[in-house]
Amino acid sequence: MSNFNDIYGQEGIKTHLQDAIEKNQVSHAYIFNGGDGIGKMMMAQILAKTLQCESQGVNPCNSCASCKQADSGNHPDIHYITHEKPAIISVDEVRNQLVSDIQIKPYSSKHKIYIMDDAQKMNVQAQNAILKTIEEPPAYGIIILLTTNANSLLETIRSRCVVLDFKPVSENLVKQYLSDHCNLLGSKADFAAAFAQGKIGRAKDAAQSDVFAGLSEEVFKICRHVRELTLPEVFSAAKDAVAYKATMDDFLDLFAMWFRDVLIFKSTWDTNRLIFKSDVSVIRDQAEHTTYNGLNDILEAIDKVKVRLKANVTFELALELLYMTIRENM
Ligand SMILES: [Zn+2]
Repeated sequence: MSNFNDIYGQEGIKTHLQDAIEKNQVSHAYIFNGGDGIGKMMMAQILAKTLQCESQGVNPCNSCASCKQADSGNHPDIHYITHEKPAIISVDEVRNQLVSDIQIKPYSSKHKIYIMDDAQKMNVQAQNAILKTIEEPPAYGIIILLTTNANSLLETIRSRCVVLDFKPVSENLVKQYLSDHCNLLGSKADFAAAFAQGKIGRAKDAAQSDVFAGLSEEVFKICRHVRELTLPEVFSAAKDAVAYKATMDDFLDLFAMWFRDVLIFKSTWDTNRLIFKSDVSVIRDQAEHTTYNGLNDILEAIDKVKVRLKANVTFELALELLYMTIRENM
């Protein structure tokens, strides 16, 4: 039921799109570029709903049949490209769902709109396959490619699309969102906002997702008790954490946030600057028992996990090495 006014931040992009709608200058191909959770999908959905709305304004009416279909995810002329393999969007998928489908006239609306998430997952053949469609789309066709890395798309694709770069929003705006939509205030909101790094979707996950709650529980169990852990407990903790491999970046970010707090406390003794204010006694204790070099080693070891995984070290072993480094330096 949302419209452009419900999007927090991204003012330049909202203005650009609403201007284009008003002046009837909407492009046939867009690239929405920006990190996961930054709001690309919400923007694409609201753009698509507005363009298909029977009221033809710069915001969707949210009450016509078209808007209701868009909100339910069942609009016959708004298509989401799906793919079978998690890491690749294949040439066949692109041909079947986009290149040939776009030749069929819209079912009930003015436009036929295609939204492709994670467009950077298209392999080169798939990108070449959509090139001609992007070059000469039918008058009713609109393609919106969402990507975390526009530079990984072929220059020939990029140059034919309007590229809109999504920017992280301010921490205050993230907190405003958390208060308005998740009823989250105080230290929980501080934590979610710090984790979000300007991305509303990440803030929402941190506030509401059960997976995230389990993951942060796992991380903080290690962070809080690492000094007391025996070696077998370290190994078993690394084994348990394998369940979070798919959300490894979040997992490692949480570790880094914790030890940055220890570092900040060690150098400033200022509790107000901490993210984990409610853990101040543990953080103080850890700050007293570590050296600056030790904390640097820990933060470097957190970064090194990703390097090791690229070198085909298993996640479990990479975490064992991380936990051992943390333990040695505490
Ligand atoms: Zn409508």
